[in-house]
Amino acid sequence: MNEQNREPKEKQNKKMLYGILAMILLIFAIVITAVFINSNQTKKNNEIAYTDLIKQIEEGLVEKIEMTVGSTAVKVKLKDVEEEKAGIVPNTQAFIELIQQKTLEGNNIELIQKKQNIALTIFQNLFGLIPTIMMVVLFVLIYRMQGLGDKGKVYDAETSKSKIKFDDVAGLDEEKQEMLEIVDFLKEPKKFTEMGAKVPRGVLLCGNPGTGKTLIAKAIAGEANVPFISMSGSEFIEMFAGLGASRVRRLFEKAKKIAPCIIFIDEIDAIGSRRTSGSGAETENNQTLNQLLVEMDGFDTEETIIVLAATNRPEMLDKALLRPGRFDRQINIALPDMHGREEILKIHAKGKKFAEDVNLNDIAGDTAGFTGAELANILNEAAIIATIEKHEAITHDDIEKAVKKVTVGLERQSRVVPERDKKLTAYHEAGHAIVSSQLETQKDIKEVSIIPRGIAGGYTMYKTNEDKYYISKTEMEEKLIALLGGRAAEKIVLNDISTGASNDLEVATQIAKDMIIKYGMSDNIGPISINTDKDPYELQLLGEKFGDAIGAEVKIMLENSYLQAQTILANNMNQLNKVAQTLMQKEVISAEEFQELIR
Ligand code: ADP
Ligand code: ZN
Repeated sequence: MNEQNREPKEKQNKKMLYGILAMILLIFAIVITAVFINSNQTKKNNEIAYTDLIKQIEEGLVEKIEMTVGSTAVKVKLKDVEEEKAGIVPNTQAFIELIQQKTLEGNNIELIQKKQNIALTIFQNLFGLIPTIMMVVLFVLIYRMQGLGDKGKVYDAETSKSKIKFDDVAGLDEEKQEMLEIVDFLKEPKKFTEMGAKVPRGVLLCGNPGTGKTLIAKAIAGEANVPFISMSGSEFIEMFAGLGASRVRRLFEKAKKIAPCIIFIDEIDAIGSRRTSGSGAETENNQTLNQLLVEMDGFDTEETIIVLAATNRPEMLDKALLRPGRFDRQINIALPDMHGREEILKIHAKGKKFAEDVNLNDIAGDTAGFTGAELANILNEAAIIATIEKHEAITHDDIEKAVKKVTVGLERQSRVVPERDKKLTAYHEAGHAIVSSQLETQKDIKEVSIIPRGIAGGYTMYKTNEDKYYISKTEMEEKLIALLGGRAAEKIVLNDISTGASNDLEVATQIAKDMIIKYGMSDNIGPISINTDKDPYELQLLGEKFGDAIGAEVKIMLENSYLQAQTILANNMNQLNKVAQTLMQKEVISAEEFQELIR
């Protein structure tokens, strides 16, 4: 992961440098231009028009005229005026003749003809050019800034040494199976188009950071032997309006040139968040997103380009992105299970020396919830530790130290949790756990923790039953109650509620809505299924009253669940206190410890 982060960072630094340079130059250019305009203005007061000059000469008021050979600029000294005036003559030869004639007429004018001082002229001209030069440099810099992000890396299939194949991706067997179709399409597009088959244009890879989304995208490119162009959504977001959109356009232009190929857009949520009607940065965002939509729609059937995009927040994405013909296929990349973890460890163990006491299967057992990137990191850290400790090979101990280093680094993230927050989190999580323990479908608790992870202050983990195809109404109802258990505990024990439950509430509200309008599980609303994902307006078609009824039903469902959660806790206060106290001491409670505590 480190290695992958390095390059964008360098790029960002470079961008910043160019940005600062551009700013300095811009200020400089403005100042110099201002000075110039100013000095031109003073000159203006001191200028003499040609007709006036002739008049003054004829009236005998001119004392001295200075000319430079090859230039139409003249300096005029009038008899009664201290300051010299500058003038321009249309024709130097005719002008000289005029003066000579006047002198002959007895009207004496001193005429000085100077040779041109080349160095000075050049300098003067150059000085005049400075603002222009600066503007040019400025534009070059802006162009470069733009260009930096645009160099989507092309991993040329022929020359790339790091050809990543499906074998390099551990676990994710089903996902790989799904991707095989895309590989086939990239290899032999004709076969598909002749058959009239529709192959997905865009595939959305959803999953936590480090779960291997980039890796699998690269593996598809490697398997199909096609170039891989990658870009991160955040790179599209620019401080100069309109650049994001043009960058999207150029990305696709480039892809069309080298097709068949794969475009990989990491962090697509940075550009693909729901469109707003805001201003400034938001409008810029909308433009970029609109351009992406245009490009996705504008593919020819001939063009063999697959766009893969990664996000860990699919629910944030603008629905327009998910329409047919765009990212209409979604693949969830879950955290690896025990077997997956062992496979990932095996892959990253290649080329490393291990002592005999190392058992990858055991390590897989101890690393529940870890991503592929974290596991890779652990083995790498272990190798470093072993080297520093001068071990012959990596020992079990080295790996345990590495696990600690990686997890502590991940979990604490320099966030020191104040005592008061700790208590709040402990009761919140204990609330989830106790409520769950009283519900038949929710009671399989795997771990309760108040160690912050990501944005969550703590978590209650459930054992997942992997071979389950349907979820019953009872299970969904109980899930609602369990989700509200966190807030219920805060309310009962601390007589206050916090923002910590906002995610629980979001999830609960979504489940309630789904139960009512997607799965037709509400008796009051009846058996109905409305897919608002496909068409957000479908609900409106059914009329306002219907919408109100649904809203009321959602509210009733959530309120009932909240009440039930509070009732369960009120009946199990002893257990709630015990679990919360233990959490405050130990921070993590395993399944066995939890069962022990609530017995
Ligand atoms: P994401 O794009 O989901 O954030 P990456 O694909 O960048 O994650 O994964 C980072 C690194 O973690 C990979 O380069 C690889 O070393 C390791 N990794 C992640 N998942 C796997 C996996 N399933 N098999 C092997 N290595 C993995
Ligand atoms: Zn919660």
